[in-house]
Amino acid sequence: MNQHRDHYLFFTAALIFVFLLLLLSCHAAQENEVEDEREFDYTPGSEKGPERWGELNKDWASCNSGNLQSPIDLSNRRVKVIRKSLRLKKNYKPFSSVLKNRGHDISLQWEAHNAGSIEINGNEYFLQQCHWHSPSEHSINGRRYDMELHMVHVNTDPNVKYNITVIGQLYKIGPPDVFLSKLLREISSMSDQKQEREMGVIDPRKIKMGGKKYYRYLGSLTVPPCTEAVIWTINSKVLSIKLPTFTNLIYFDFFASK
Ligand SMILES: [Zn+2]
Repeated sequence: MNQHRDHYLFFTAALIFVFLLLLLSCHAAQENEVEDEREFDYTPGSEKGPERWGELNKDWASCNSGNLQSPIDLSNRRVKVIRKSLRLKKNYKPFSSVLKNRGHDISLQWEAHNAGSIEINGNEYFLQQCHWHSPSEHSINGRRYDMELHMVHVNTDPNVKYNITVIGQLYKIGPPDVFLSKLLREISSMSDQKQEREMGVIDPRKIKMGGKKYYRYLGSLTVPPCTEAVIWTINSKVLSIKLPTFTNLIYFDFFASK
């Protein structure tokens, strides 16, 4: 009887041990996976895709329930077309920059936001970074273009409601833009790993802006947390660019369908 019970206890202990071992290894595997995965992705219908961004984190609720979400079609009635005679007051200056692969995109960031600012409605917004989407996020009369550049500016005054302003530029494939081609070559050589690269001094004034008019509307960030505090300014003229052939390895924003 006792012997039986000893056997029984031994087997139970062995089973619990194996079970714990399995649990531990599963847990380790899960942790590794989470580390490797991005917090969100752009794949429509996927677990972390655009339709579910608002559920992934309580701070991202705007992504699903907001009513000023971006991107939109620029023929939308929320959009005003403004002549550039009412010029944006730009005060950019060259400063050291770093190219950062943030996982979901690659951005060029200026150190300590020292690359100057623009003024909108009497408020000063400091240039923080620029990044690219391919294809474009905004569309014009339903047409999306090959690439879109976003220059992100921030205002740190807590009394300013719309404290982010993004200047956008659309591109279609055509003759190269020398400045951007050089930058895109650097970007193309960065792999799908999180990493940084010193880029030296870069002058934001060298980024060309097209057209005599711009589209202006109030919207949101186009990635989580989708904050609805963005003044959008998108140049009316679509410029041309020569995209590297391996673009699809670099821009993670493919077919963003938010
Ligand atoms: Zn963007």
